[in-house]
Amino acid sequence: MSKQDVSLPEDEYLTGEELRELHDILKQQLEEILDDSREEIQELTAQREVDADTLDVAVNESNRDFALRLADRERRLLKKIRHALHRVQQGEYGTCESCGAPITFQRLMARPVATLCIDCKTEAEQLERPRRMFV
Ligand SMILES: [Zn+2]
Repeated sequence: MSKQDVSLPEDEYLTGEELRELHDILKQQLEEILDDSREEIQELTAQREVDADTLDVAVNESNRDFALRLADRERRLLKKIRHALHRVQQGEYGTCESCGAPITFQRLMARPVATLCIDCKTEAEQLERPRRMFV
C-alpha cells in the first residue's frame, strides 16, 4: 500500500474511533432535541387548556411565540444533525463540503455539525459580513 498520493498528513483525517465518538455525540444531540420538542409540544398543549380557563391570553401568547421561535432554532439544528449523520453513512463526514479538505477532530468535537473546514468557514463568514462603509 503506497501512501504517495496522500497529500495531507494522515492524522488530519478521522480515525474509526474518532468517527464513532462523533457519531455517538450526534445521535445523542438528536435524541435530546427530539425529547425537548416532545416536552414543548406537551407544554403548549397544556397551556392552551389553561388559556381557556384564565383568559390570560396576552401573556400566554408571548410564551407561545417564544416556544415557537425556540422550536424553529431546534428544527434548524435538527436538520444539520440529520445531514451530518447522513454524511457519516455516506463516508463523507469529516471532509469539507466546499473544498474537500479534512475537518480536524478538534473542530468537530467543538461543533459536530460542521460541514466546512476552518478556512472555508472563515471565508464564508467574511462574505456574509455586511459592509459598514459610509453607513
Ligand atoms: Zn474547505
